[in-house]
Amino acid sequence: MQYNEMNKEQLLQLKAELDERYKEAKAKGLNLNMSRGKPSATQLNVTMDMLDVINSSSDLKSEDGTDCRNYGVLDGIPEAKKLMADYDAVVLACGAANPRDINALGRDANGIHFAVDFLTATTKSLLDSDLTDGKYINAKDKNVIVIGGGDTGNDCVGTCIRHGCKSVTQLEMMPKAPDERAESNPWPQWPLVCKTDYGQEEAIAVFGHDPRIYTTTVKEFKKDKKGNLEKVVTVQLESRVDEKTGRRMMVPVEGTEKELPCELVLIAAGFLGTQKYLTDAFGVEVNERTNIKTDVDKFATNVAGVFAAGDCHTGQSLVVKAIRQGRDCAREVDKYLMGYTNL
Ligand SMILES: Cc1cc2nc3c(=O)[nH]c(=O)nc-3n(C[C@H](O)[C@H](O)[C@H](O)COP(=O)(O)OP(=O)(O)OC[C@H]3O[C@@H](n4cnc5c(N)ncnc54)[C@H](O)[C@@H]3O)c2cc1C
Repeated sequence: MQYNEMNKEQLLQLKAELDERYKEAKAKGLNLNMSRGKPSATQLNVTMDMLDVINSSSDLKSEDGTDCRNYGVLDGIPEAKKLMADYDAVVLACGAANPRDINALGRDANGIHFAVDFLTATTKSLLDSDLTDGKYINAKDKNVIVIGGGDTGNDCVGTCIRHGCKSVTQLEMMPKAPDERAESNPWPQWPLVCKTDYGQEEAIAVFGHDPRIYTTTVKEFKKDKKGNLEKVVTVQLESRVDEKTGRRMMVPVEGTEKELPCELVLIAAGFLGTQKYLTDAFGVEVNERTNIKTDVDKFATNVAGVFAAGDCHTGQSLVVKAIRQGRDCAREVDKYLMGYTNL
């Protein structure tokens, strides 16, 4: 009971701070969009302000007496073995940054990047130098195609516009969701309606139209003689039932190909769980979604003393869920070490 009350109060306090910071950042972002001025650090990346709050909360933990040390990047089986030998318990909280790729002809062209590499480089350059060091993938004056209509794709659309791209198109393989709830989707179910997020709103304000094209994917990347991307061939998709498996699939429709000029592609087609080298290094099993496997609502993996929490356990999710999992996991680790827990 005491644990639950503490947890709830801390989370509510954090949520209030995040809401406030998010509102501020969003307001600045929208101003930027209207004026198209030079972005400043807080204006360019909305998520960054939220991360500042999280960073400061880890300082608080240290003040509470927790010994937090940064061991750097763990990249192999020997280090994993040493960590497991040196410590009674290890918690894997290494995220789910393994991106889903697009295997189309010409994938090796210069100018095709994963969304998180693009977003991370921009944020780092922004924090380090207010984008003056040039150490980021610049969308300025480029025709950009973002593959993937989710939240990460939306972040890419917003960031490209703030870089000053020439055009931005966002491809989504699924059909557009309805603007209002369908009869088959009543309250209190989650509303399955078309969401227009800040990136798309900015695209509408700057270019005059929604950047999304639905039921469409990339068939081929075309490059020039130097290997640089110059065009993307798109194809329309339709939903069909696979005769062998009975599963519904999105399949290309022949004759619907189109060529779009494009010098920069950002792949935001989802994530495939945690990276394999890490799960291999610790010998932990993964589930069918390649997230680290545990019993339901538990954090212990198949390897004694090794636990998993956050995105590497649930798949890409939300910061608040990762915080909650971290706390619940700490409780389970305490019980594992002590035989009981007062957390
Ligand atoms: C583009 C994007 C936008 C998002 N926007 C939002 C948002 O607006 N709101 C929201 O709530 N959530 C958002 N999320 C989701 C949110 O970031 C995650 O749910 C959350 O960060 C998960 O926390 P985590 O601690 O499990 O993993 P992460 O935050 O991913 O942290 C994992 C850490 O482990 C480190 N690591 C990985 N491998 C190793 C290794 N081998 N050795 C050492 N360290 C390692 C990584 O560098 C990283 O610091 C977004 C995600 C993405 C990709």
